[in-house]
Amino acid sequence: MPRSRGSRKRPWGDPHPRLEEARLHGIPRSETGPDGTSFHVQHLHAATKQYLCPGCLHAVEVGMSQVVVWPEESAFGVPSGPDARRHWHTSCWNRRLRPS
Ligand SMILES: [Zn+2]
Repeated sequence: MPRSRGSRKRPWGDPHPRLEEARLHGIPRSETGPDGTSFHVQHLHAATKQYLCPGCLHAVEVGMSQVVVWPEESAFGVPSGPDARRHWHTSCWNRRLRPS
């Protein structure tokens, strides 16, 4: 998976890529979704309100780990940006359950 071109070169001796930090801090990254298109995916430690997971159609309860997912590009007529955000259970997203 190619990394973003925008990332700065790390100086020698910088111990590790900041994947763990990115995950903990919820920085969005690009992943491929269930239908093969690219999504921005933001991993959040805990939901702050209840959402409906589009993968399993069950509630993402407050305090559960979740991912927030939105399309990088959307077709005409499909909302993009914050309106297109979906909250998934982390496990459902990892298994790429298909939204229905
Ligand atoms: Zn789910």
